[in-house]
Amino acid sequence: MFLSRHGIQPLLVEKRTGTSLLPRAPGLQARTMELFRAAGVAPQVRALEMGDSHAYFEGGILRVDTFADIANAVVLEAPSLDGPTISPERVMGCGQDRYERVLVDLARQTGAQIRFGCRLVSFDQDPDGVTALLEDVESGERRTVRAAYLVGADGARSRVREQLGVTRTGRGTVFHALSIYFRSTRLEQLLDGRKFILCYATAGGMVGLSRLHGRDPWLAAPVYRPDLGESPEDFDDERCLAVLRTAAGSADLDVEIMAKVPWEGAQLVAERFRVDRVFLAGDAAHVHPPAGGFGANTGIHDAHNLAWKLAAQLKGWAGDGLLDSYHAERQPLGTAMAAQAMVRNRIRHGYASDKDRAEMVDDIIITLGYRYRSDLIAQAEEGDVLTPRLELTGEPGTRAPHVWLDRDGERLSTVDLFWSSYVLLTREDGHAWCDAAARIADRLRVPLRAYRVGPGGDLVDADGDWARRFGVPPGGAVLVRPDAFVAWRGGSSGGVDEETVLAGVVAQATGGRSAVASGPGR
Ligand SMILES: Cc1cc2nc3c(=O)[nH]c(=O)nc-3n(C[C@H](O)[C@H](O)[C@H](O)COP(=O)(O)OP(=O)(O)OC[C@H]3O[C@@H](n4cnc5c(N)ncnc54)[C@H](O)[C@@H]3O)c2cc1C
Repeated sequence: MFLSRHGIQPLLVEKRTGTSLLPRAPGLQARTMELFRAAGVAPQVRALEMGDSHAYFEGGILRVDTFADIANAVVLEAPSLDGPTISPERVMGCGQDRYERVLVDLARQTGAQIRFGCRLVSFDQDPDGVTALLEDVESGERRTVRAAYLVGADGARSRVREQLGVTRTGRGTVFHALSIYFRSTRLEQLLDGRKFILCYATAGGMVGLSRLHGRDPWLAAPVYRPDLGESPEDFDDERCLAVLRTAAGSADLDVEIMAKVPWEGAQLVAERFRVDRVFLAGDAAHVHPPAGGFGANTGIHDAHNLAWKLAAQLKGWAGDGLLDSYHAERQPLGTAMAAQAMVRNRIRHGYASDKDRAEMVDDIIITLGYRYRSDLIAQAEEGDVLTPRLELTGEPGTRAPHVWLDRDGERLSTVDLFWSSYVLLTREDGHAWCDAAARIADRLRVPLRAYRVGPGGDLVDADGDWARRFGVPPGGAVLVRPDAFVAWRGGSSGGVDEETVLAGVVAQATGGRSAVASGPGR
């Protein structure tokens, strides 16, 4: 969907006959909603929100003896997930089965070809492209297609990753669980209206009940122990009924089992996210336990990070360094994310150490406060990928701060400025920067727009505070990438003029090619 919105027409092959039938990942983070907003599809996704979903997030992660004892729940985690000064968007709850369908429609509307019931069998790559062998799942008919690039977004057991020979590091499988989808008319009454993301009942084992998945059907997931000889086959309907009634603390709870899906909580991160013309994204690149709800969100963030870079390369204005930055930026983040999911997993399963608790970083930092340190980022500061506190200050490598702006009577966030081009923001007297940006955009053939911000400028910041929030010095400017990450900030000094400074940082931020640009234009 992101590629097609950037004007590229990808082919997606999916061996299943349609999108997910199960709600799987139901929590869309504020940053994920920002990405949909940037692509112009946030209203369509927001329309799917399960009513009053924010109240469920506010309820956090709970532990109880039984669900009937919800009044005595212990709050294990009360994550901060959004906030009006951090993001123009809020988290939302919606099943993956619902938003996948909408994303497919939106991708098709802008030219993506999507083929269900079609399997990738193998591929070969050469310096000019990738040749993929595809098979129609029903007829067995095979054909080859030729593409410029291949993205292996084929899940945890990725065939693409295996064929590339890319290894993964991490703890591997850490627990086994069974998702039980069921109907129950009396469970809501038992919960007494209490809202939460997830509640673990400890009576008779560990059973997590998800509220974000809704209640038609409900989703509860007991953990099972293969090391004690247990397997998913042991969980016939009778056993599931017993497990759910024990967890509920209600021997006569009405339960109708709808589906059972075994899955593993694992921590594994691919050592390379790029091998020449082939990329890995989503679960193919990193898996972590669902604690934190990072899985689908991180995959969507991978896709967003990669899409504009692929589009730039295909449109001819980027250097190959731009594609290299995908691994440099997303792999450390996938690793940090997986580690944080593991910490949460240990806390929720009751065997966390003091060190685990000290290492746990708040959700909002993980989803919005991380920083990239690739060759594209000028003056990237040393430090962890996850900052200890959420402070979006315009530091190069971090998501640009969210500041409300007025553009000819229209209210928009700074975050709304970033999608298809680099953006230079300068103070209202920054005419020299804007003129330099126009000349560089023309000369280097890079999409680059410039705005003077302040009363009398192109954009007016509601609080008169944007330059402080972005850390832009008097006479200076900040360059933000199409994905809303800060590429550079600073001023012209020491006899070096704006155009020379900007030409250097734009060349760096576009992966090198612009320094000698001769692309086909914007
Ligand atoms: C119980 C549970 C709860 C979860 N909760 C959350 C949550 O709250 N928030 C969150 O962010 N994440 C959550 N996750 C994780 C989330 O569901 C996954 O991270 C996400 O679906 C991964 O997306 P993906 O597209 O990378 O992989 P997948 O969803 O696995 O999709 C890969 C697709 O590739 C297809 N495929 C594979 N091989 C081929 C081939 N050779 N040819 C063609 N097609 C192929 C598969 O059929 C599949 O549809 C949860 C997971 C579970 C199990």
